[in-house]
Amino acid sequence: MGERPSLVVFDLDYTLWPFWVDTHVDPPFQKSSDGSVRDRNGQSVKLYPEVPAVLERLHQEGIPIAAASRTSEVRGATQLLDLFGLTHFFRYTEIYPGSKVTHFQRLSQQSRIPLSQMLFFDDEARNIHDVSKLGVTCILVPNGTNLALLNHGLEAFARS
Ligand SMILES: [Mg+2]
Repeated sequence: MGERPSLVVFDLDYTLWPFWVDTHVDPPFQKSSDGSVRDRNGQSVKLYPEVPAVLERLHQEGIPIAAASRTSEVRGATQLLDLFGLTHFFRYTEIYPGSKVTHFQRLSQQSRIPLSQMLFFDDEARNIHDVSKLGVTCILVPNGTNLALLNHGLEAFARS
């Protein structure tokens, strides 16, 4: 097995969950008695199915995880990470509007991990374009994060 990343970073909307938290759903969210997470209108919201397994695998391998999102719905996104039981996986969270270049510069400052040691998953080509220029290994997410895509990303990083 080749070199592993020192930090794996995930976008949120259409990377960990199949919606835009600032427009498609209506925060605040809450957990209902059946365990489902629902928005203010009672609409059920879910992760892509393999997301917990992906985060668990990285966690077990001792690879730190971060979130980087440009959403303006900072509270809603943070609340979802909590209600989905994912908060403990994320060592760093950078959630605010603007260019993702800023998110990655701050991640590198906080973690003291060079950008070239990071692996990033995002569904938007423009983010992949911007962040690739920083030297981060970037993987476009076409249909949500899953275990096959994680393996693909780890292999791409090892080759980089
Ligand atoms: Mg996205």
